[in-house]
Amino acid sequence: MINQTRFMLRTGEQYVEGIRERRHAKIYVMGKRVTDVTTNLFLKPSVLSFKATFDAAFQEDTRDLARAFSPFINEEVNRFVHIHQGPQDLVAKVKLLRRLSHKTGTCFQRCVGWDALNTLYIVTGKMAERGDGVYRERFLKYLEYVQRRDLALAGAMTDVKGVRTLRPSEQPNPDAYVRVVEERDDGIVVSGAKANITGIAAVDEVVVLPTRAMTEQDAAYAVSFAVPLDTPGVVVVVGRQINDARRMEGGDIDGVPYMAHHEGLIIFNNVFVPWDRVFLYKDWRWTGPLVEIFASYHRQGYGGCKSGLGDVIIGATYELAKTIGVDNKPNVADKLAEMVFLNESMYSAGLAASWEGSKLLKEGGWWVNPMYANVTKHLVARFPYEISKLAHDIAGGIVGTAPSEFDLKNEEIKNLLEKYLQGVPEIPAEERLRLVRLLENVSVSVGFLIESVHGAGSPAAQKIMFNRLYDYEKAGEIAKALSRVKVTVKWPKAPELRRPSETEKL
Ligand code: SF4
Repeated sequence: MINQTRFMLRTGEQYVEGIRERRHAKIYVMGKRVTDVTTNLFLKPSVLSFKATFDAAFQEDTRDLARAFSPFINEEVNRFVHIHQGPQDLVAKVKLLRRLSHKTGTCFQRCVGWDALNTLYIVTGKMAERGDGVYRERFLKYLEYVQRRDLALAGAMTDVKGVRTLRPSEQPNPDAYVRVVEERDDGIVVSGAKANITGIAAVDEVVVLPTRAMTEQDAAYAVSFAVPLDTPGVVVVVGRQINDARRMEGGDIDGVPYMAHHEGLIIFNNVFVPWDRVFLYKDWRWTGPLVEIFASYHRQGYGGCKSGLGDVIIGATYELAKTIGVDNKPNVADKLAEMVFLNESMYSAGLAASWEGSKLLKEGGWWVNPMYANVTKHLVARFPYEISKLAHDIAGGIVGTAPSEFDLKNEEIKNLLEKYLQGVPEIPAEERLRLVRLLENVSVSVGFLIESVHGAGSPAAQKIMFNRLYDYEKAGEIAKALSRVKVTVKWPKAPELRRPSETEKL
């Protein structure tokens, strides 16, 4: 049974204490078992980034954005465990994410679990509206448990997928997608693995969702559930990132003295899940809508967090331009303006997706506008690379060639480096190096580049959605009316460009 002990609105310190107390979580980093993620040098910056989402509820500049009133427990909760109650909440999400990027300089990892909660709220709500209320009841109890304890959740969606051309049930490795291997009176046993899971080593619990639309043959793979990270049989292997070894050097400039994020592989090695934590069981018909609802939620969020990282990069670039006295040169101003345009475009699209949100359930279930959410993510898959390129152009080759902070601390060469690394005399060489490292660490990071392309679905996935959501026939009618064309051609065997989205079919 889920224990409904009250905590609510934990501080960052309480979150850190909570994951320090986990007992059996099997986490590996670079071949070694990690027993305390809060002190492990590789993972500590990631824990600090997660912690920022808790601290935000107590800091003056983010307190209002980071708190929300939950009608499910009639209390204020951290927004990261809140179910959106209207477009204002969707907008607040995008604004909060932008602010948190300013505080962390990286991905703060807690949004995937949040999006998973909102997705399951809608999907189990739809099931209940169709007469199957059991999942709804279980989910609402779980939601209450999460909100009362202010848990840090990961959302695990992407399966390892094996042979990409084969469906889950056709795979030579039957565990290439997470599946049910046993049904018991008290619950189910699951097996398989999920890849690229953001923040997975630093959470209290993981919420698992199917990664694709399934068919009847794939029913054993149509499963959604939640388990604490220290559940027996769960193994986490943390992935490497660019410059990650710098975190272990002990400096305070070169590495990531601020924060970092991580992704990892989570393996479910015959893991038992009690029934009260199972939110979808073999009902494959719900997998399509579930994937679509989740993907659009996360695509909307990118408009906030990635534009926030864009601000960090624009700021570092501007300050670096000052260090060499070119900040007011017309060509630099032009490039900075271009960076601002690219950045604000991502944010504007995220806001549009939020304001144009709609209710999918009779009782609420506020979802983003899927077209604008997909546009947001598609911009994010492109613009961060442009922003980084412009930043590197203005900042100069030093972003890729600067000496280490340890050179600057070596008494034998310190004076020489201070002399030759300095631009304008008012700004010391060390300050310039700090800005260079910040720019390097953020603008060529996994969080700003690779995650922007592949997180929440690669660009092809958004193009599929554009074709599903855009009404080409209607646009054609507009064009024909203006040009006074009367002929309508329907080819009997022509593929239908616009197929209704899964959510439209609900
Ligand atoms: Fe949140 Fe952005 Fe990280 Fe996704 S990529 S978890 S939206 S900060």
